[in-house]
Amino acid sequence: MPLKPFTAASDDPAALSPSAPSPGGTVKICILGGGFGGLYCALSLHQRSRRSPRPIHITLVEPRDRFNFTPLLYELLTQELAPWEIAPAYRELLKHTAVNLRQDWAEHIDLAQQCVTLRHGEPLTYDYLVVALGSQMRPPATPGSQTHSLPFNTLQDAEQLERRLNDLEQSPHVGVVVAGAGPSGVELACKLSDRLGRRGQVTLVDRRGEILRSYPQRIQRAAARALSKRGVEVYLNAAIEAVDASGLTFGYEGQTHHCQADIALWTVGTVPRPWLGHDVPNSTSFGQCQVKPTLQLPDYDNVFVLGDMAAMPAPGRDSKGSQEPIQNEYPFQNRAPTTAQAAYQAGPAVASNVLALIANRSLKPFRYNHLGDMLTLGQGEAVVCGFGLCITGRLGGLSRRWAYWLRLPTPAHRWRVLKHWLGFRN
Ligand SMILES: Cc1cc2nc3c(=O)[nH]c(=O)nc-3n(C[C@H](O)[C@H](O)[C@H](O)COP(=O)(O)OP(=O)(O)OC[C@H]3O[C@@H](n4cnc5c(N)ncnc54)[C@H](O)[C@@H]3O)c2cc1C
Repeated sequence: MPLKPFTAASDDPAALSPSAPSPGGTVKICILGGGFGGLYCALSLHQRSRRSPRPIHITLVEPRDRFNFTPLLYELLTQELAPWEIAPAYRELLKHTAVNLRQDWAEHIDLAQQCVTLRHGEPLTYDYLVVALGSQMRPPATPGSQTHSLPFNTLQDAEQLERRLNDLEQSPHVGVVVAGAGPSGVELACKLSDRLGRRGQVTLVDRRGEILRSYPQRIQRAAARALSKRGVEVYLNAAIEAVDASGLTFGYEGQTHHCQADIALWTVGTVPRPWLGHDVPNSTSFGQCQVKPTLQLPDYDNVFVLGDMAAMPAPGRDSKGSQEPIQNEYPFQNRAPTTAQAAYQAGPAVASNVLALIANRSLKPFRYNHLGDMLTLGQGEAVVCGFGLCITGRLGGLSRRWAYWLRLPTPAHRWRVLKHWLGFRN
């Protein structure tokens, strides 16, 4: 039975939970997950901490030692970018901030006791909790997919793929098959095709009838052109049956095909990470936590969930395509996508609401603002669509790189990367 949570609206001291901060004392804020939601929330809290009426103590729990700027992971395969640029160490990013890093796994959240159990370290008690654990790979149901295919979600995955490509360096012919024609599959197919050149044959297989299903048509068209220019073979409406050491088997147009490949990549989707603990909040059929418009957990005003794990509200479109106002009632009909763009916007919004709670001010609903879509379509090339414009080719590549540079964490890291791009020694 959950205890009554600490809420800013409550003026009855008896309504505060047992570990609610004593007036004037330091407020403990615990953030689980240092990805786009959690890290950007921590940095924003640090920046705004002077505005807090009470001293705050921020702890970020994250098992990795490096932040992964996932949209730019593909650039490692073509050596357009180096690991330090897109995966800076947390210690470096948080060096001059008031954010305390606990490099550990959160294992259990006790909402009633306001306590998080860690895998290795001492448990953490909190006054305010921010949960942003992101997504994980959908449990693979296809025989052999776990053993014989590589994932591509993290810096570690990119390094593993790099090692496989290096092993095949001397091969006159390299076959790569990519399962899944979503953004990851398409971006990987284009980059690997450019990396391997004439030695490579890249095949893309998907069970659906179109590539990039949830993307606007002009992005789909640009991607189809990029794949065809590189000679990537695309099989749609193909039912993947099995993966083994020799490649991928799939049903296509009533027949069974076997695509011989040295490398099989698995990009067929992710699911939100599950809640850690017994008091599992209400969730959607996709597994995202239901949150209030302010991204607070219903019944626990001192707990915020954001990023891929949360069903965050987004404006809908009416029949004429105009933007409708965001609903104030959850569960929301229109939800923000599970993207870095959405998590990156939610981080500072949650930071601002946590500080509003501490200061007893009213909280603001989160407003997701879709700024457009960007995909890399080979070495130096991209498609960037937004605000009614669509740029492709090299100009698209430059625009995408610039847009992502602006979103790299911390001014110090951005400056270091910019100096490197301009040819200055770091
Ligand atoms: C290869 C790839 C390319 C992508 N490209 C794009 C793109 O071009 N544009 C775009 O908008 N989105 C893109 N995405 C999606 C984007 O990365 C996610 O939507 C975004 O990272 C979600 O942010 P988040 O904060 O919810 O989760 P994440 O950024 O995934 O962060 C979650 C963090 O939680 C940590 N964690 C996990 N479990 C625990 C635990 N038990 N305890 C503590 N910490 C834990 C993880 O280590 C991770 O650092 C891409 C994703 C991938 C994999």
